[in-house]
Amino acid sequence: MTATKYVYDFEEGNKDMKFLLGGKGANLAEMTNMGLPVPHGFTVTCEACNAFRAAGRQFPDGMLDEVGGHLRALEQKMGRRLGEPADPLLVSVRSGAPFSMPGMMDTVLNVGLNDESVEGLAKQTGSQRFAWDSYRRLLQMFGKTVMGVDGDRFEEAIEEAKHAKGVQNDVDLDDGDLHTLVSRFKAIIAEDTGRDFPQEPQEQLRLGIQAVFGSWDNKRAIDYRRRNKIRDDLGTAVNVQSMVFGNKGDDSGTGVAFTRNPANGDPTPYGDYLPNAQGEDVVAGIRNTLKLEDMGKVQPRAWEELQAHMRTLERHYRDMCDIEFTVEQGKLWLLQTRIGKRTAFAEWIMAFDMLEEGLIDVDTAVLRLDADRLEELFKKVIAEGTKAEAIATGLNASPGAAVGKAVFTADDAQAWAERGEPVILVRRETTPDDYHGMIRSQGILTSAGGTNSHAAVVARGEGIPAVCGADAIHVDRPGKRFKVGSLTVSEGDWVTIDGFTGKVYQGQLELADSPIERARSGDAEARKEKIWKAYERFMARADEMRRLRVRANADTAQQAANAIERGAEGIGLCRTEHMFLGEERVAAVRKMIFASTADEEQTAYDALAPLQREDFVGIFKEMDGKPVTVRLLDPPLHEFLPDQVDLAVAVALASQAGADDVEVGGEHMPLAEAEELLAKVNDMHEVNPMLGLRGLRLGIVKPGLYAMQVRAIVEAACKVKAEGGNPIVEIMIPLAATREELAQLREELEPVARQVIGDRGVELLVAWGTMIELPRAALTAGEIAEVAEFFSFGTNDLTQTTFGFSRDDIGKFLGMYEERKLVPANPFVTIDQPGVGRLMQLACEEGRAAREHLHLGICGEHGGDPDSVRFCHEIGLDYVSCSPFRVPTARLAARQAALGEASSASK
Ligand code: ADP
Ligand code: MG
Ligand code: MG
Repeated sequence: MTATKYVYDFEEGNKDMKFLLGGKGANLAEMTNMGLPVPHGFTVTCEACNAFRAAGRQFPDGMLDEVGGHLRALEQKMGRRLGEPADPLLVSVRSGAPFSMPGMMDTVLNVGLNDESVEGLAKQTGSQRFAWDSYRRLLQMFGKTVMGVDGDRFEEAIEEAKHAKGVQNDVDLDDGDLHTLVSRFKAIIAEDTGRDFPQEPQEQLRLGIQAVFGSWDNKRAIDYRRRNKIRDDLGTAVNVQSMVFGNKGDDSGTGVAFTRNPANGDPTPYGDYLPNAQGEDVVAGIRNTLKLEDMGKVQPRAWEELQAHMRTLERHYRDMCDIEFTVEQGKLWLLQTRIGKRTAFAEWIMAFDMLEEGLIDVDTAVLRLDADRLEELFKKVIAEGTKAEAIATGLNASPGAAVGKAVFTADDAQAWAERGEPVILVRRETTPDDYHGMIRSQGILTSAGGTNSHAAVVARGEGIPAVCGADAIHVDRPGKRFKVGSLTVSEGDWVTIDGFTGKVYQGQLELADSPIERARSGDAEARKEKIWKAYERFMARADEMRRLRVRANADTAQQAANAIERGAEGIGLCRTEHMFLGEERVAAVRKMIFASTADEEQTAYDALAPLQREDFVGIFKEMDGKPVTVRLLDPPLHEFLPDQVDLAVAVALASQAGADDVEVGGEHMPLAEAEELLAKVNDMHEVNPMLGLRGLRLGIVKPGLYAMQVRAIVEAACKVKAEGGNPIVEIMIPLAATREELAQLREELEPVARQVIGDRGVELLVAWGTMIELPRAALTAGEIAEVAEFFSFGTNDLTQTTFGFSRDDIGKFLGMYEERKLVPANPFVTIDQPGVGRLMQLACEEGRAAREHLHLGICGEHGGDPDSVRFCHEIGLDYVSCSPFRVPTARLAARQAALGEASSASK
């Protein structure tokens, strides 16, 4: 048996080995082999980490020996030994997982220093200050990440030292001060942990590796992985690398650089440089950094070299790279590279430029675009050149900038919005009861809650900008105000939030439409901008090459127009329920519900039919030549009646007070009528309306209802056809569980359609189909296909009924379920492939076996989710249908699916 190899020299790896060596290790290896200046080192694999975790925090057999062997080789290359008192080799111990998890895990610099070798280092380098600064950094990082000391204690000690000396910056502390600080740090470690800082360098190294492995399971890292859908079983590698020193004086320094601007995509390097500093100092913001382009003023040679290396890296990786580097006495060292994160906007610009530059081909460019973030391109931004200081920063939970007056309850949000006031709803955290206020707000701001909190999920779903978890703000709901430090923002005060950055501003900042939105609405100047050219080019490519068609869910002519503008090729779901709302219609619907004779019922239908017909005329005209799938009435009828409890209370109060007028939900009616209404509402009350009298069950119980709808649909289509239009009509019957239900309804409804068509004397084909949204329907799809020309997967209901989860009630436990990984992901967002997906697949196969040309689509929320779109492509659906705003997302995702790779794989 050959033993597993747990340790690789940088020379032995390459960039494709990130699952073994972690991203950092794989790229350090790649850069080493490209001949770039990387300090020597080696990588302990992720596999070793997983073995360590599996064995209850025990290093696997042989691993430490291997580390010893590679360390000796490193010592030989460097001509120094770890812990050699006179001239020590120092190393960094760096975490590095397969996916970048910025700042989530731990790194320790300057390992190998102790009370003795610090003197040796001082002598060798001729700088007492440098040696003691390096030592205090080791104590600080080791104390915090390996020994678990609260990092603030070290920071406080540094503050005290600076204060005592009356200086501002750490660089103003001299060797004597640092010497004292080292003693203080050692004391802090001993006090806090009851143990001394380990003087033995080998032990430092071993404990360092152990701490990095352990950091994979710290809470921060676990939360980060959950948010970013990174698997828990990947583990992290550890890189042991000889130190280079940016803290050796003014001819040294450290920096971070992007090969292009990650915010706006400009093809110019972007970053920060900090003279006389080490490691994290640049990002930690302890001193003001120089802009990268100004580095040339202090380090002209290193800056030239850095630019050359950036070009080399871009050509090699064919993408924007993010680099960490250090300059030691004028000599440039590269310490890390990876494909850089960027905004959605920058991603499109870079893909476009790189295509033009010949760095990548068009499909590579298209594949690189994150379909899930495409919507961001359409969001409002804070106008360029706006100068404002943020009052708080939270999580950028839903993209876009928003400005409005602060309100503190959902009811107020609704009331203010209805008077035409733009509002920002400010809550500690939202609940499902706030929904009505949330959807009327320009933006949502919460002080608690993460990127998967209720507020964040609803905001993203509705396309409303949101900043969540801005914990510096204290919301005082009864007082209708919030405080940040000494500042108070009261109800009605203007607030601006930026959902791209998570920043919160006081006052009414100026917002601007995104260039894409301006271009889309015809602005000629905006159409000259690169982002629009990129959008047009890549979307055209996506449309040309995808197999899945993309339709939209749209209920009105207005939404249909919107959908077409965004590239929809039809309507996959036209719900008819909203057509039953509006004062005049509700009255007619109620007459229908209350009818006690067939005649009364028919009178009600006759009143509704013309209204419905006009709605359909508008939609068919808008969708000329494109298919429109109209779903017959689906929700339970009591949705058109007042709330049972509200009505009961209103009736009770009125009769007690001897009043004749009852007010409920803004509606007034005589007491007698209200009592009658209440009796009916009680009568119709269902314990579980989701599983009650709805969908085609309504059509069966109230035969005239669907007949009226079919007549209205077909009459509208005939009218449009007679006027020279080309309506393509598909009638969809919801919630079928059995073949017989559907067969019987078709038998009743088809003659209605035929008669209208015959009467009007036009030629019109009507397709009849059903939704597959119950497990029984999926399981008997072969039979159902005998009586359906098309299926549309209603994956919202199918998910509810497959899991037995009510979507309205999951708020109480789904978060916990996701956290504990009891469900793979939120199944209402991404299709649950093993369960719901399997039912879909089975229904496709058996449906098509029974009817070769069965047309297949999906019309749930999932139709606009890129991962779900890929799945729909794989099981061979003909189209996906989603909200009009998600149409471009689905078009792009469909192309990416066809390219055989997921957008998520390119992240
Ligand atoms: P993170 O993954 O949090 O970025 P790193 O392992 O990259 O952590 O280390 C943090 C910082 O320490 C980096 O900025 C890097 O420049 C610096 N650093 C790491 N290793 C060395 C080294 N061998 N010599 C000098 N600086 C180093
Ligand atoms: Mg780093
Ligand atoms: Mg449904």
